[in-house]
Amino acid sequence: MEIQRRTAEVQQKLRDSGHRITPQRLCILEALLAANSHPSAEEIYAQVQRVSPTTSLATVYKTLDTLRDMGEVMEMEVGDGRFHYDGVHPQFHPHAICTRCGRITDIEIPGLTSLPEQAGEASGYEIHAQRVEFYGLCVECQNQKEQAE
Ligand code: ZN
Ligand code: MN
Repeated sequence: MEIQRRTAEVQQKLRDSGHRITPQRLCILEALLAANSHPSAEEIYAQVQRVSPTTSLATVYKTLDTLRDMGEVMEMEVGDGRFHYDGVHPQFHPHAICTRCGRITDIEIPGLTSLPEQAGEASGYEIHAQRVEFYGLCVECQNQKEQAE
């Protein structure tokens, strides 16, 4: 399964760059990767609390910062005042964001992964970060809207 493979991969990369895999870190990693739902740090913390109540929010932040600096997690802002994290697909990809329920969905369009590189070439910029987001109603919210009408 992709999530398990990715969890093992991130653990290995942490080890390779000299980080210890503490039980707390492993819990955070599992909460980050489990649902591929682009959780916020606070959501990861709430999930981790269930299995590892001694893990602090500061540890969650620190672990996410470490993973972000290693390029193993994509950090994004979607307008709700919190950072959200995608550790499953850390490389560039666009997202669709539901303005009703806040759901964040990966958009997979072949060929789009080279967009940052193309933007760099077209502008002459050395690109450090990129985000492409589309806002609208998710399928579930469209259905609920129809039922309400
Ligand atoms: Zn929705
Ligand atoms: Mn994503």
